[in-house]
Amino acid sequence: MERVQVGNVEVVALSDGGGAFPATRTYAAAGQAIQQYAHLMDTDGNLLQNFASFLLRADGRTVLVDCGNGPEREGTLLREIEAVGVRPGEIDIVIFTHLHGDHTGWNLERESGQPRFVNARYWVPRADWDRGIEQNREGGSFNRDVRPLDALGVLDLIEGERALTPSLITLPTPGHTPGHTSIVVRSGGEEAYIIGDAFITPVDVAEPEWPTTWDGDPVQTVLTRKMLLARIEMGNHLVGASHLPAPSIGHFVVVNGTRTWRGVRTPGG
Ligand SMILES: [Zn+2]
Repeated sequence: MERVQVGNVEVVALSDGGGAFPATRTYAAAGQAIQQYAHLMDTDGNLLQNFASFLLRADGRTVLVDCGNGPEREGTLLREIEAVGVRPGEIDIVIFTHLHGDHTGWNLERESGQPRFVNARYWVPRADWDRGIEQNREGGSFNRDVRPLDALGVLDLIEGERALTPSLITLPTPGHTPGHTSIVVRSGGEEAYIIGDAFITPVDVAEPEWPTTWDGDPVQTVLTRKMLLARIEMGNHLVGASHLPAPSIGHFVVVNGTRTWRGVRTPGG
């Protein structure tokens, strides 16, 4: 867990646990070229990933961005929220960068089917919602964790740029999924970007033109990454990303001509 201040907004990076995925599978289209990033892999050729959520305290509101894999993977998110001193009932808004199952796992109490964050509205990108309804995957995470939000009366579908609070604005960043959405934190002359899965691994940061196997629309993914880089690098703004190495909050920096991820806890960062 890591806390940073962006103007008057408190940004806390939380984790639901970690994972490791073969680099060759993540960048199937890159072929042998992926081996130049062997230094970013473990000894088995895996890229390590965090499953981060972000707790934002802004303008008197408490906002949770994404909510992990959930109980099946014995995630740590609920314990981390508690450790920050926040009770689930204190969260006003749960917002999803997108609706993949590793971002929606703690939405509902499994037994009762009731919202776990009892006083929250759930903000859901409309294009991802529409796709989930259309696919209607039996046993899928959308039908289990997201679809019930409508009947429970806690669903707000969002699109375009919307203010969650005066300091938190949504920014459409499609590509990974059609409705993928980032959150811009803007307060006291400072800015930060919560970018979900727009950049998934440090290889994405170095090679923004290499989409991963998980990106639904590779062409749009690359366009979105370039748009984000232009905005973020103009002011060297802070970045929060779902799966970049823990604590998943840091900066994009250029070292010896290569763009790289530097977490706020990285030595020398
Ligand atoms: Zn993800």
